[in-house]
Amino acid sequence: MRRQPRSFKPRNGANHDLHLVIDEEAIPIKMTRKPAARHFILKMHDHGYIELTLPKIGPIKEAMQFLRKHQPWIADQWRKWLKRAKEQQERNNKREILYRGRVEPITLQTRNGLSCACFAGLHFPIDLQRMSLGRWMAEWLRYQAEIELPQRLAALASRHGFSYRQAKVRNQRTRWGSCSSQRNISLNWRLIQFPKKHADYVMLHELNHLRHLNHSARFWNSLRVICPWMDESENWIRSQAECLRSELDVAIEAGLERFLP
Ligand SMILES: [Zn+2]
Repeated sequence: MRRQPRSFKPRNGANHDLHLVIDEEAIPIKMTRKPAARHFILKMHDHGYIELTLPKIGPIKEAMQFLRKHQPWIADQWRKWLKRAKEQQERNNKREILYRGRVEPITLQTRNGLSCACFAGLHFPIDLQRMSLGRWMAEWLRYQAEIELPQRLAALASRHGFSYRQAKVRNQRTRWGSCSSQRNISLNWRLIQFPKKHADYVMLHELNHLRHLNHSARFWNSLRVICPWMDESENWIRSQAECLRSELDVAIEAGLERFLP
């Protein structure tokens, strides 16, 4: 760490923003004048710049001297901020969600000043003032599920000659799907997180209840005809899905929150 700044580079003469260059790192300095301020005040801002508050009057030259005098403090604060930012980034990168059977990391980006969640090659704007990231993800997945799952159910029904009255995507806590005696099918929005074949299994299972409203041998035998991979899906659901459900809920409700900037 050099003891003296090598240069002060005015970034924007109009608002007195500067870069303080230390070890070839340009540290942004933002200067603001506040009538109420009686002294110079330095603050490391969470968004990655040093804020220097100046009293209402007083020459910029003095502000420069003040910055030079406090350069070790600035360098120290900057290093700490960089470390925090890096750790934050690493945690962000580890944040992941199961989507269509694949573990997809979620990252946060800022685009045109808007926060944006990125995962599975998709980007969508989020407003973290309004809702937490976890809630945005849940809302988005559910929205996606409401588009995709009924379409897939309709396609499977027509392929295998089933007819039902209504399909609804719901936020069921304990079931992946259900079929009522009124021939209505409900699907859990979390099916969008399943690998496609296992989501298909759940849909075929519910469709098959249109013919057998029970889990009799007949039910299972006819299901096996239209879904030969049913045992694999049953096993997957038993081994993965319970933990998926609780993990997702926990992640959505709590875990993701901790990593918010
Ligand atoms: Zn069943």
